[in-house]
Amino acid sequence: MYSKIVILNFPAKVTQKALVCQLTKKFDLLFNILNARISNKKEGYMVLEISSGSKTAFNKGVKFLKDQGVSVSSPEHQIYKDEEICTHCGACTAVCPTDALYIKRPEMEVIFDKQKCSVCELCVVTCPTRAMGLFSEVSQKVA
Ligand code: SF4
Ligand code: SF4
Repeated sequence: MYSKIVILNFPAKVTQKALVCQLTKKFDLLFNILNARISNKKEGYMVLEISSGSKTAFNKGVKFLKDQGVSVSSPEHQIYKDEEICTHCGACTAVCPTDALYIKRPEMEVIFDKQKCSVCELCVVTCPTRAMGLFSEVSQKVA
């Protein structure tokens, strides 16, 4: 099973279309919505975990979204953990919904697994030392 978390940015003109549902109907992809919101300008933002039987099917689904005008990017470069200022207090692990932040035992180190991050930003607002942050630009290409 191929699985990947992606960030979708919908321009206002397509936010009312049920494009994500088409991923299942047209490409047999499974998806789990990890985060979603809509701006006051009606632009949509969604973080999806997409699973499929093959990377080819995943790529076809991503191409379909892009053809509809949806921006598709990887969340890997959106959230960062500054190891210089992290005190390993563990506060972020209590709020992380995807277990992207976890405590490695017996070292008691807080580890950040970017592959599991849904970019919900809960750790950013929780971290007392501001070790967790958000990159403003997404540089990773998807499909
Ligand atoms: S809350 Fe901040 S300082 Fe504490 S473990 Fe998480 S990243 Fe490190
Ligand atoms: S943004 Fe932070 S809290 Fe949210 S999934 Fe990623 S690591 Fe976890």
